Amino acid sequence: MADAVTRLADLSARLEAGDFEALRGALADEYFGASPPAGTPSAADRITDLALGFQTGLPDLTASLTDISTNDDGTCSATLTVRGTHTGDLWGAPGSGAAIEWTTPVTIRAVGDKFAVRIDELPGPQRVGLVRQLRLVNPADEMDLPPRYPVVIPEFLLRLVFTGEAGDRPCAHVAQIQVTEPAVDVCQECVDAGDIWPALRMCLICGHVGCCDTSKNRHLARHHEETGHPIFRSINADEGWIYCYDDDAFREKSTLSGR
Ligand SMILES: [Zn+2]
Ligand SMILES: [Zn+2]
Ligand SMILES: [Zn+2]
Repeated sequence: MADAVTRLADLSARLEAGDFEALRGALADEYFGASPPAGTPSAADRITDLALGFQTGLPDLTASLTDISTNDDGTCSATLTVRGTHTGDLWGAPGSGAAIEWTTPVTIRAVGDKFAVRIDELPGPQRVGLVRQLRLVNPADEMDLPPRYPVVIPEFLLRLVFTGEAGDRPCAHVAQIQVTEPAVDVCQECVDAGDIWPALRMCLICGHVGCCDTSKNRHLARHHEETGHPIFRSINADEGWIYCYDDDAFREKSTLSGR
């Protein structure tokens, strides 16, 4: 693995210089613990395109791999640090000037002469906090207000934020989907109460439309608690992703096509 350590140090040097296109040649087609779902881009393309997307909003974006070492099982361990300043438009969120610094241990597995990377210790609240720092969602004290900016977050980033994993977790409920298109575009319970909401969700079992988990009323979550219906989709803006409460499983929009 000495060769792998050398190549990871070379990759780190390119990322420290802001050359995120270097990821496309260095990363494997597969994720650390999963293969990309059929008909979807390779892990290398997905991760590279996500990094390049970040770089449009954070033009000074850099990343580094430090403390690279080899493990008994043939993998490498390292510390990944990502830094940048949010000065440009990021998926619809204007630059805030906020400096971002994000550090996490990673495990890296060689796949031929490429690498698959796993992020090891980034708990859910920290992932969501990163999205909030970048103004991709409203600040915590504005979560009951309509979104500040018309942001469309890439589904692959949402997948990572929701579950911390690149692969699909099993979800038996996808096969139980009955309704895919909403009949209304309001949360009627909020309307009745004179409230507003940040985003709308639709139950894929019965079609019920309710406000999201960051709404103060959480009407779709209450629908889930009352009925046991576990799986819903976003009907906000261009979004179409699916989430299952019971399995903590995220699916991308394409799951619904052809149904
Ligand atoms: Zn499920
Ligand atoms: Zn509501
Ligand atoms: Zn329902």
